[in-house]
Amino acid sequence: MYQDRRKVIVIGGGLVGSLCACFMGQKGYHVVLYEKRSDLRKDTYMRGRSINLAISHRGRVALRSVGLEETVLGSAIPMQGRLLHGKTGALQSMPYDPVFNNCIYSIGRNSLNEVLLNAAENYDNVKVKFDHKLVNADIRRGVIRVQNKTTTEVFEETADLIIGADGAYSVLRSAMLMTPMFQFNQTHIEHGYLELYIPASLGDKMTPNHLHIWPRGQFMMIALPNKDTSWTVTLFMPLDNFTSLRDEDSIMYFFENIFPDAVPLIGKNSLVHTFLSTKPSQLISIKCSPHHFGSKFLIIGDAAHAMVPFYGQGMNSGFEDVSVLSELLDKNHLEVKEIIKLYSEMRVQNVQAVCDLAMYNYVEMRDLVMRKSFRARKAVDEVLYKLCPKIWFPLYNSVSFSSLEYRRCLENKKLQDKIYSLLVGVLLLSFLFVFINILRY
Ligand SMILES: Cc1cc2nc3c(=O)[nH]c(=O)nc-3n(C[C@H](O)[C@H](O)[C@H](O)COP(=O)(O)OP(=O)(O)OC[C@H]3O[C@@H](n4cnc5c(N)ncnc54)[C@H](O)[C@@H]3O)c2cc1C
Repeated sequence: MYQDRRKVIVIGGGLVGSLCACFMGQKGYHVVLYEKRSDLRKDTYMRGRSINLAISHRGRVALRSVGLEETVLGSAIPMQGRLLHGKTGALQSMPYDPVFNNCIYSIGRNSLNEVLLNAAENYDNVKVKFDHKLVNADIRRGVIRVQNKTTTEVFEETADLIIGADGAYSVLRSAMLMTPMFQFNQTHIEHGYLELYIPASLGDKMTPNHLHIWPRGQFMMIALPNKDTSWTVTLFMPLDNFTSLRDEDSIMYFFENIFPDAVPLIGKNSLVHTFLSTKPSQLISIKCSPHHFGSKFLIIGDAAHAMVPFYGQGMNSGFEDVSVLSELLDKNHLEVKEIIKLYSEMRVQNVQAVCDLAMYNYVEMRDLVMRKSFRARKAVDEVLYKLCPKIWFPLYNSVSFSSLEYRRCLENKKLQDKIYSLLVGVLLLSFLFVFINILRY
C-alpha cells in the first residue's frame, strides 16, 4: 500500500493529536506520537476532578470517521439548550434548535482523551511515546529534536509528514515564526477563568440537559454536566475583578450578590478554598498563516488557531482540521507538500473566522442573551429557519450543527444582519406612516 512506505510524526497527544494519530493509523501510515506529559491514563493526579467540554457536529463527524462517535456519545450528556439564571434565581430556557431538535453534548476531557489514546494504540502501526518532548525544530533541514524526559537524551527525528498538535504554545509554530511571510497574531483577552465545582450529591438540584449560564453583563458563569451528576462550573471575569476578591468576606459578598442561587450548590468552603488556592487562567486567541512549512511541516488544532472558548468550537474545529487533512491525504495523486499547501489554503480563513465568532459569542452569552432585542431577533430567526431552512440558516445552527465552512457561517450572519435591520427599518417606517395618517384624519 502507498501509505505503508510513509512515516508520520504527530507532536502532542492532546485531543487533536491523539485523534490525528487514529486517522493516520487507520490510513496505514507508520505513526509516532510524541507527548511531553506522562500517560494520563496512569496519572492519578490528572484523573482527579472532571473538566468537561461541549462537542457538536464537526467533532462528531471526525469521531465517526474513525468509528468512535458512539463510544464517545455513550458517555456524554446531551444539552438541549441554554438555561439562563437571573440574579433573583429566575430561570429561562433557550433551546439551541427548536426546529430540528439538534443538541450539543457535554463530555469529560480526560475520558475523551483516554478513548482517543486507546484507539490510537490499537493500531499496530501507531506508537505513542509519552514523556517525550519536542525541544525545537530545524524546519529548513526537515528535522525535529525530541527529548526523552526519562533519560534526558535528545535525539533527531524526521518523517514524510510532521504534524504539530502541540497546543496554543506550540514549539513547532515557534520554529515557523522565523520563516519569511509567516503571519502571526496573538491576543490575551482581559478576562480570565476559574473552574468551580458542584458535587454529584447536589447535582440533581440543577435542571438537567442544559448548559447553564449566569449572564451578568461584563462577566458570566457557566456550568456543564458530568456523567456522575456533578457539574463543572466556570467563572469568566476580567482578571482585575479576580484580583479584588482576596479574602473570604469579599468572595462571599460577591457571590451572594451576583450568583446567589449558585452558592448553596458549590458550597461556601469549596468556593472560598478554590478562590484562595487557585490562580485564574488566561484566555488566548491565536491566528497565524500559513499552517504549513516546506514539504512536510503542518500545524493543527490550538497550535494553529487557539480561540477563546465561548463558541465551544476549539476542539471541534481542531477535529475538523483532522477530517479536512484526511480527505486531502486520500487524494493519492497529490504529494504531501501539495496536500499541506492546499490544506493551508482551505483552512486558514475558516479557522480565523471561527476565532472571530468565538470572541463575538462571549458578548452574546454574557450580555446580549438578557436583552429583549436579542430575544426578538432569535424568535425571527427561528420562524424564518422553520419556513425556509435552506435560505435562512441561523448562525449558531450553522456553526454547531453543520459542516458549513466557518467563513460562510460568518458571511451568512453578516447578510442576515443587514436583511434583519432592513426589515426592522421597513416595519418602523410603516408604523410611523400609519401613525401619521391616523393623526391626520
Ligand atoms: C475553559 C475552556 C473551555 C473549553 N471548552 C471547549 C468546548 O466546550 N468545546 C470545544 O470544542 N473546545 C473547548 N475548548 C477548547 C479546547 O480545549 C481546545 O481547543 C483543545 O483542547 C485543543 O486541543 P489540542 O490537542 O489542539 O491542544 P491541547 O489540548 O493543548 O493539547 C496539546 C498537547 O500537546 C502536548 N505538548 C505541548 N507541547 C509539547 C511539546 N513541546 N512536545 C510534545 N508534546 C507537547 C501537551 O502536553 C498536550 O497534551 C475550551 C478551552 C478552554 C480553555
